[in-house]
Amino acid sequence: MEHHHHHSGNGLTRRGALRSVVTGLAAATAVATISATSTAGEGEEQKSIVDDPKIDLVKGHVQRTSGTLDKNGTLVSEAQRSIPIQGKSQVLVCGGGPAGIAAALAAARAGASVRLIELAGCLGGVWTAGLLTKILDGENKTGIMKELLTAFSQRGSDTAKKSGGSVYDPEIAKAVLEELLTEAKVSILYHTRVVGVITAGRRIAAVLTESKSGRQGWTADTYVDCTGDGDLAAQAGCRFDLGRDADCACQPMSLMALLTGIDFETAVQFKDRNKLFKLMQSVGIKPSYRAPTLRHLHSGIYSLMANHEYGVSAFDADAITQATIRSRREINDIVNGLRKAGSAWSNVALVATAEQIGIREGRRILGRYHISQKDVMAGLRHQEAICRSSFPIDIHGLSAADPAFAHAVEGQSAKPFDIPYPALVAADVDGLLMAGRCISGDFIAHASYRVTGNSVAMGEAAGLAAATSVKLGKAPHELSWASIRSERGAQKDTGDR
Ligand SMILES: Cc1cc2nc3c(=O)[nH]c(=O)nc-3n(C[C@H](O)[C@H](O)[C@H](O)COP(=O)(O)OP(=O)(O)OC[C@H]3O[C@@H](n4cnc5c(N)ncnc54)[C@H](O)[C@@H]3O)c2cc1C
Repeated sequence: MEHHHHHSGNGLTRRGALRSVVTGLAAATAVATISATSTAGEGEEQKSIVDDPKIDLVKGHVQRTSGTLDKNGTLVSEAQRSIPIQGKSQVLVCGGGPAGIAAALAAARAGASVRLIELAGCLGGVWTAGLLTKILDGENKTGIMKELLTAFSQRGSDTAKKSGGSVYDPEIAKAVLEELLTEAKVSILYHTRVVGVITAGRRIAAVLTESKSGRQGWTADTYVDCTGDGDLAAQAGCRFDLGRDADCACQPMSLMALLTGIDFETAVQFKDRNKLFKLMQSVGIKPSYRAPTLRHLHSGIYSLMANHEYGVSAFDADAITQATIRSRREINDIVNGLRKAGSAWSNVALVATAEQIGIREGRRILGRYHISQKDVMAGLRHQEAICRSSFPIDIHGLSAADPAFAHAVEGQSAKPFDIPYPALVAADVDGLLMAGRCISGDFIAHASYRVTGNSVAMGEAAGLAAATSVKLGKAPHELSWASIRSERGAQKDTGDR
């Protein structure tokens, strides 16, 4: 398992090319027009958006692109164009899942100007857009994780209260997160995807996004990759690992769903996954996840996780689409099947499926510390610990032939281990931090620290580090965790030591 197979998003050649794009960008702004030879018209000239005051995005105008389609119809060459820099902040956080919201909140509360760019139309990532409903490994954390558990519990149902906030309502989570980040003056931008990075030497010069506002550029002093999949870092040219071995086999995806119409007394009995599995089998359903979970959320609303999609790459939009369609069909089949069980199940109905299929694994970006299986088995203690992961190694079967999930490797289980600050600092690009499931670690370590209690603690640490980096004018790798914490003053320990 000590196998390393670093891939690179671009590598040196691509980075060289990006550098010339930086130079080219400056040149392009000076040139008013870019010659276009698109199918729209041979030799037609198009103005750059930067130079054309008539282009008003709010009125629906678009910055047209141009280029040529090759003779074989297999490649299109896009003409160089100038992209407006839309915003500058001290800290730019990409991705607003459990890690990203904590990073943005911590950086803003530490005094930095912060922008958060998120693809979905809400904050929370898998918590909300993914309809997760359960926070694991959060109860031993202080700081923002504790604050959120308190809020989810206070604002939530009896179930939320009883669970100390760890079983939460996704809608309460959305509201709480927007309130907290707005209050901290984080500039939130939804419906926007990070699609590219311009590097200059070892640093990020600008981040490029796409949205209904077209292609836009963003600059910052320090960047935090909280995209889950490590999109920002990969686009910046960082090395990374993916999956278990050289074949990149990843944990399966699952589409979460909300149900209603189940008699409460009955549902309680089916908290036993095996019992629920057997019931499903008795009505002719064989769920692809053989340990289906049903959890009461509030007022007759239940959360269901019952499917696995194996062998789908987080980076294949077509495969993710097919997996989503299959999953949604399977969930409908499960619910319709359960209804046939009659009596307490005769009114069961689907309330919602998640907008986004749950992706367990993406890139693990190479940092200045790589958390290994050995660390997890030994229960690593590290001087620069930002928190402690005490969740088992949770590996969902990589194929239908595997057990539904396993909490040990070769009979050995994890001991609570420290997550060192340098595992959050990119090795190949300066001024870039990671938090959440894309930090630096191997397949086994990731299977433990990936859960959201740890993602939030990592986000908080990365946000604090980013703000301190700005304040002291030093890159994150030049800072020790002790110096970051002392800058913040009497910051409480985020671990459970
Ligand atoms: C089905 C499933 C069940 C799970 N069960 C549990 C559980 O019960 N309890 C638990 O604690 N954990 C669970 N986990 C693990 C946990 O949800 C994730 O590991 C955790 O969400 C990681 O947090 P994150 O912030 O790193 O990533 P994510 O939650 O994935 O958030 C990433 C965010 O970045 C955004 N984003 C991605 N790419 C871009 C881009 N290019 N530009 C802009 N924005 C982007 C996404 O929209 C998303 O909001 C589960 C995961 C899955 C998939």
